[in-house]
Amino acid sequence: GMTVLLWWLAVADDVVYRDPNQPVAVRVKDLLGRMTMEEKIGQMVQIERIVATPDIMRHYFIGSLLSGGGSVPNPHATVVDWVNMVNEFQNGSLSTRLGIPMIYGIDAVHGHNNVINATIFPHNIGLGATRDTDLVKRIGAATAAEVRATGIPYAFAPCIAVCRDPRWGRCYESYSEDTELVQSMTDIILGLQGEIPKGSQLGVPYVAGRNKVAACAKHFVADGGTTHGIDENNTVVNQHDLLSIHMPPYPDSIIKGVSTVMVSYSSLNGQRMHGNGDLITGYLKDKLDFKGFVISDWEGIDRITSPPHSNYTYSVMASISAGIDMVMVPNNYIEFIDDLTSLVKNKFIPMERIDDAVSRILRVKFTMGLFENPLADFSMVNEVGSQAHREIAREAVRKSLVLLKNGKSVDDSMLPLPKMSSKVLVAGSHADNLGYQCGGWTIGWQGFSGNENTTGTTILNGIKSTVDPNTEITYMENPNTEFIKSNNFSYAIVVVGEHPYTEMFGDSSNLTIADPGPSIITNVCANVKCVVVIISGRPVVIEPYVSVIDALVAAWLPGTEGQGVADVLFGDHEFTGKLSRTWFRNVDQLPMNIGDPHYDPLFPFGFGLTTTSVTERSISGGIATRPFVLGILVSVFISLSLSRRCIKPKN
Ligand code: BGC
Repeated sequence: GMTVLLWWLAVADDVVYRDPNQPVAVRVKDLLGRMTMEEKIGQMVQIERIVATPDIMRHYFIGSLLSGGGSVPNPHATVVDWVNMVNEFQNGSLSTRLGIPMIYGIDAVHGHNNVINATIFPHNIGLGATRDTDLVKRIGAATAAEVRATGIPYAFAPCIAVCRDPRWGRCYESYSEDTELVQSMTDIILGLQGEIPKGSQLGVPYVAGRNKVAACAKHFVADGGTTHGIDENNTVVNQHDLLSIHMPPYPDSIIKGVSTVMVSYSSLNGQRMHGNGDLITGYLKDKLDFKGFVISDWEGIDRITSPPHSNYTYSVMASISAGIDMVMVPNNYIEFIDDLTSLVKNKFIPMERIDDAVSRILRVKFTMGLFENPLADFSMVNEVGSQAHREIAREAVRKSLVLLKNGKSVDDSMLPLPKMSSKVLVAGSHADNLGYQCGGWTIGWQGFSGNENTTGTTILNGIKSTVDPNTEITYMENPNTEFIKSNNFSYAIVVVGEHPYTEMFGDSSNLTIADPGPSIITNVCANVKCVVVIISGRPVVIEPYVSVIDALVAAWLPGTEGQGVADVLFGDHEFTGKLSRTWFRNVDQLPMNIGDPHYDPLFPFGFGLTTTSVTERSISGGIATRPFVLGILVSVFISLSLSRRCIKPKN
């Protein structure tokens, strides 16, 4: 309170940039005209909160902070702790001569995923399966409210990568292998930032107000196309495929008013994207008319050279010249500031480039009302993990589930499951594990295991609260054959999959279900009628087990609302999800995407059964064993795919 008052008194003359009635462009120009070079360069710096203090913010005029990989104020940080922490840093920035607010950014990539008790939504691969753009808008709005409740006005989301190889450890951050599907999902930006007003100037960033956040389309560009799906690697692609496969979600995001774009660690045809002026300036800014700011990735400019940080001055020069406006430094800020300052002083980088960068950053800050409302209050704390948001997440889980098989023959469908039966077995490492069902980027960078770190409903809990009270549920992670046989279960639900992973640790060349998942499947399904639910960030090796499985459901990484899985398994809601990715038979086929010449998937892009269609059920019965039927299915699919709608294999 006091700090703000003093700061306001200091600047409250008829200063143009302070006047919210002035157009943003006028305010930007006025403020820029008052800034020293030090103040300008400071705006371009984003540092990690761990290395920051309010005093550092003030002293170096730091323009932005981040919680990288989810760095938290303390392991048990409450929403109030977050607000206080962000405000403390903000007060440092506000106490500078010009009182320019800093902007705090965080990876809120499936809800406000670093914050305990926040609502965790399905990861993007599951949202792609919903095909529901209205739903993703509501998810965006809920995420924005939770992020803003903690005092943070900026989310490093959405990831609009078009993942072309599931071996990539970030494939689950991609909505789809299909460009048009990713394009449609950029509607999440309208939820995060608010619906862009009619008549807005194209390409100008837009954030509606205090319950919205600035969004960030990432990672520019072709991050999802690296060879063998190796993270941060090289994408080899011709101009046509670049512009038709990887680029289109960017113009969509820009049209929807996205405030920022993050550059990819990856290279394009051998050139590091962080130094790619043709695409950052020439294409994104000039051709697509993007007026927001471009941010680097975490130490992304360091990685222009190999080994990283071996010629930092060059890295600074190449990245700023290429058109990067804000640099996620995020640790060695003094070195960055010194290097950039001398590059400008020695005319290696023209002052106009700095002015362009700073203008873009200020434009976003003005547009979103940060100058008027730089400090958060506690009025929104109840937004975090609210019942209303959890309902949206639960709906998203239901709609993201893809039914891949339902019964071994036409008349033998297994789903929906009866709520009333004598004894039900639930098995598998993923049935009662909140951390596993959330996946990476949850309460920490690489995710977690177990049920202790946040609140939510596991799939097991969801099943228990859905069945009839007289139905006996037995949960055993890895039951042996004797136990299964001796118990006379009516049926079994097996929940297995991948363990959480995030960038740098998620690449996989074998894409297997984590042990002992495969043996649990074969053991249980050989002895009792079973539905297998796969929790994974991508298609995994399943073909060897499909014939023993009665019903198969892909649940992706559903997040905290495991109840949504039970809602659909027990028929309270229909299966509506359709594959957002091609499901391969074996990894030797990879990469294999819809439209490829030798397309021979186990389940094609767009596949997804319903429990009501008898025709579909009969196809499902044969899918693993009858290549002929699958061949027909694929040709039907390919012809339908021209319209790129939600594809049913046959109607
Ligand atoms: C990731 C980005 C993320 C950033 C900040 C990077 O390593 O590639 O997606 O936004 O870290 O945590």
